[in-house]
Amino acid sequence: MNLLPPHDTCCGCGACAQACPHAAITMAPDAEGFDQPQCDEARCTGCRRCATVCPVLHPLPPAPPLAAMGAINTDDGVRRRSASGGTFHALASGVLARGGIVVAAAMDGDFAVRHRAVGQPADLLPLCGSKYVQSHTGDAFRRVRAALRSGREVLFVGTPCQVAALRCFLGREEPLLLAADFFCHGVPSPALWQRCLDEMLRRIGVGRSDVAAIAFRDKSRGWRRYHTAITTRSGRHIVIPRRDNAYQRAFDENLSLRQTCHNCPARAGRSHSDITMADFWDVARLRPDMDDDGGVSLILANTQRGADVLRSTGLRIFDADIAEATRHNPAYTETHTPPHPRRQEFFASLATAPDASRLIRQMLHLPPLQALHRQLNLHIYLFKQRLFRLKPWK
Ligand SMILES: Cc1cc2nc3c(=O)[nH]c(=O)nc-3n(C[C@H](O)[C@H](O)[C@H](O)COP(=O)(O)OP(=O)(O)OC[C@H]3O[C@@H](n4cnc5c(N)ncnc54)[C@H](O)[C@@H]3O)c2cc1C
Ligand code: SF4
Ligand code: SF4
Ligand code: SF4
Repeated sequence: MNLLPPHDTCCGCGACAQACPHAAITMAPDAEGFDQPQCDEARCTGCRRCATVCPVLHPLPPAPPLAAMGAINTDDGVRRRSASGGTFHALASGVLARGGIVVAAAMDGDFAVRHRAVGQPADLLPLCGSKYVQSHTGDAFRRVRAALRSGREVLFVGTPCQVAALRCFLGREEPLLLAADFFCHGVPSPALWQRCLDEMLRRIGVGRSDVAAIAFRDKSRGWRRYHTAITTRSGRHIVIPRRDNAYQRAFDENLSLRQTCHNCPARAGRSHSDITMADFWDVARLRPDMDDDGGVSLILANTQRGADVLRSTGLRIFDADIAEATRHNPAYTETHTPPHPRRQEFFASLATAPDASRLIRQMLHLPPLQALHRQLNLHIYLFKQRLFRLKPWK
């Protein structure tokens, strides 16, 4: 019995698969390469557990944040490895020091992004930094539950929909859980990432086995001018400029995001995380004295627990006004990311396209009239959102 939401509204969080007591659900790539639940009718008993934990079927109302602040990790090495100010590493170090575990996303040996659980400070660095691809949650929610039930503190970090899914999966208040999400632009397809990576490596003449690390947010040219960078085992550091990086451009222009990201069930304060992290892009305007272009995090403390934990980290913190600090970050002020007009066409053509990166460039190249039309549609879309959406707070 399929009790799950329609394919185009599922966010791929995997909570249903992890909750099914009869292992009737597996997560497998759909035609666009995103994880999608597949239900084996022969195993299903109709117990409805999968539907109970689905964050799309049980969306949470917006929860206003208590406070906003800027944060900088005082360890420059950590900050360099982090997308913005290194808030995640400081939170995680605190939880590990108290005997807890951290469950967050890292890139594996096959360059797929998966959630993993770590208990040692030495294992934190691979978790740092944004990976612009949807992570596979695997058995992460089960591991969080097991650790909590054994009396250990857990820091879980994920997209807002993953945090909302974890809340549904746990089904009750967990005082030992610290849940953090981030302002979420959306997530691209894991299968597209693998194809574009192969094409990127071919272009720069590097084999998969020669790659030591990939950073989506390399700061060697500054926090604002971030690029993807590949470090080889022989120590070469190859920066892929943004204009040459079709994969990044598809992400930026909303061509390759999951369909649900255009109808997001959880961002803009609806995940009920304790802490929300983001890039403090407006820091130069609001607190120029804190901006060295090395990265500053904007943090929202959504719960008292979140606020207390933040104050106990070694982060350099300064207070910010919530409305001012979030004003120019649509990943928070808008509930959805508008799709690129050629998104459907792109994914429909992908399977037969010999070169995914070339297809991206073709799709992003709009004739002047169509480009103008897109801009107009974008403004209308944003205007409608502001007009009709439930304003979470002011
Ligand atoms: C896909 C994506 C889109 C984002 N969009 C925006 C945006 O539009 N505006 C904005 O201000 N900020 C956005 N962010 C957040 C921002 O990039 C930083 O993650 C945030 O500022 C925290 O930075 P940090 O330096 O504190 O931590 P970091 O060290 O950068 O830690 C980031 C944390 O996010 C987790 N993470 C990384 N990639 C993924 C993933 N694919 N899925 C689940 N968890 C992941 C890591 O495990 C880690 O726990 C986005 C992040 C991601 C992953
Ligand atoms: S109804 Fe129960 S058995 Fe069937 S897929 Fe859902 S959780 Fe599994
Ligand atoms: S949103 Fe998550 S829980 Fe709901 S059907 Fe999709 S994968 Fe399953
Ligand atoms: S935009 Fe929404 S649906 Fe997409 S990954 Fe982020 S939280 Fe999930």
